[in-house]
Amino acid sequence: MISCQHATELMTTRELRPLTLFEMISLRMHTAICSACSTFEKQIASIKSAIMNEPDSVPGSEFINALERAIKERRL
Ligand SMILES: [Zn+2]
Repeated sequence: MISCQHATELMTTRELRPLTLFEMISLRMHTAICSACSTFEKQIASIKSAIMNEPDSVPGSEFINALERAIKERRL
């Protein structure tokens, strides 16, 4: 199984280019087993959704706090 660091890299890479089939399967298998990465993936999705819904607005304190929490939780 891929490491949490590799899984995180694939989640980031996915935003820049389509993943290969092997990368997709590796990431899917990892997030199915690893709750930390699964939670992180959901947090990325919710942050991305917030940005896509309001592309022209300045991020509010609630958004910044959520982002900081997500980053802190990821470091533990
Ligand atoms: Zn993980």
